[in-house]
Amino acid sequence: MSPCVFCEIVRGNIPSTKVYEDEAALAFMDINPISYGHTLLIPKEHFTQVSQMDVEKYQALVKMVPELTKAIIETTGAAGLNVLQNNGRAAGQVVEHLHIHLIPRYEGDGLGFIWRPKPAQEKELSLLAQKIKGVLGK
Ligand code: 5GP
Ligand code: ZN
Repeated sequence: MSPCVFCEIVRGNIPSTKVYEDEAALAFMDINPISYGHTLLIPKEHFTQVSQMDVEKYQALVKMVPELTKAIIETTGAAGLNVLQNNGRAAGQVVEHLHIHLIPRYEGDGLGFIWRPKPAQEKELSLLAQKIKGVLGK
């Protein structure tokens, strides 16, 4: 199995352009940015998807999101910013080390969304919510 590219970045075996680092998390510039200022925030420990993390580790990862977002917007002059985290191939995940995309957005950047929302029936939503609540058990 080939080594995880983001674990190699954490270990310093693959170079990265770092923005922020602490004991649990690392933020660095995306090598193939979707937009000017596209930054990635990762846990130093290897997790594939968010569902594998416990609350403490997730909190340690996301605690810098507000401050990083503010700094990126201030630096780039972006008009907005998407915080995006893909879980699984079906959701667009390519690198299998959990990462949060911080994607600055600019008026008329043409990135858009290919999502096509459709109105749902209230009954269907309630049924689904009940099932999710059941699994949560809270
Ligand atoms: P995903 O599609 O898995 O959500 O996003 C993976 C992201 O990691 C992509 O935006 C891609 O450009 C970025 N990426 C992949 N390999 C490297 C690398 O070696 N260095 C950096 N800085 N970014 C990478
Ligand atoms: Zn990894």
